[in-house]
Amino acid sequence: MALNERSLIARYFRDCGAPRADVAVGIGDDAALLDFPPDMQLVAKTDTLVSGIHFLPDSAPASIGHRALAVNLSDVAAMGAQPAWALLALTLPKVDEAWLEAFASGLGTLARQHGVALVGGDTTSGPLCITVQVLGYVPRPAAMLRSGGSPGHVVFVSGTPGDAAAGLLLEKGTLTAASPEADAYLRQRFLFPTPRLELGQRLRAYASACIDISDGLLGDAGKLADASRCGIAIHYEQLPISPQLASSTGDMRARELALTGGDDYELCFAVPPENVERLTHDLPPSQWDYRPIGLLREAAGAVVTRDGTVMDFSHSGFDHFGS
Ligand code: ADP
Ligand code: MG
Repeated sequence: MALNERSLIARYFRDCGAPRADVAVGIGDDAALLDFPPDMQLVAKTDTLVSGIHFLPDSAPASIGHRALAVNLSDVAAMGAQPAWALLALTLPKVDEAWLEAFASGLGTLARQHGVALVGGDTTSGPLCITVQVLGYVPRPAAMLRSGGSPGHVVFVSGTPGDAAAGLLLEKGTLTAASPEADAYLRQRFLFPTPRLELGQRLRAYASACIDISDGLLGDAGKLADASRCGIAIHYEQLPISPQLASSTGDMRARELALTGGDDYELCFAVPPENVERLTHDLPPSQWDYRPIGLLREAAGAVVTRDGTVMDFSHSGFDHFGS
């Protein structure tokens, strides 16, 4: 990139993440050298955010930086793993120092919160595009996979899905929130999602399968069920809906967003029935913020049930839903 790539990297990214003793060589050489803990398996994930597709072009740069890292950390959380290192491939249309400053602060704040070091990357010129890679580890063979569930396992979700989708609608100007407080809360859930890393690592001792929700709870829970060679029934009444969402959209639209909206980055996980009491005792749901929403079952596919009967769900929307 024209305006001194090296000083740009030094200025914004060299001290962006957390310092870590296991980074033998970080930013500055041809590649990073990392000391890897013994008896661990490497967990690796990358995600790309393209301007206009994964974020609105005029989004606050701090949010773009936060989300670029958060989406990767969420995948690491779903594996029950601990993140350690990140790499950042940044394609910029121009060098805008205020933008870079805010972007690096959004990414760096989240990285430092979770002890993640930024150990390298690439900087090029072109249409705005951000790729982050996260590396971490998990004790062998304790990683949580999508495929470990069985019929009868209880399915839980963390947080209150649907909030982020409503936040995006507010950002786009196609929804009006019930109050300024609800408006700020819902936007925050979209702009600054919380990767559930601590919960993911704790769940290793209880859960049989786990997935993070990026594309909507119903679809992603269905992926977990598919991978576990079973189906899933989600109980409509049990969906945890935030008061901010319910008051802004009404109950039915809120449940539709909870099932089909994206960008929540919450965890959806299955727990064998014999582990449920231990789980809720050791990790109180009100403190750890998760709720039961359904069951894995023999019949393939993902369905939503209400009062014990399968709802007539169609992907064309919830107009058919609940009628
Ligand atoms: P090379 O020319 O060998 O590919 P670069 O000039 O691209 O190396 O990068 C120099 C150093 O800066 C490397 O250690 C690289 O990992 C790091 N780096 C480059 N861009 C970024 C970035 N956006 N964020 C963090 N580190 C970066
Ligand atoms: Mg380069």
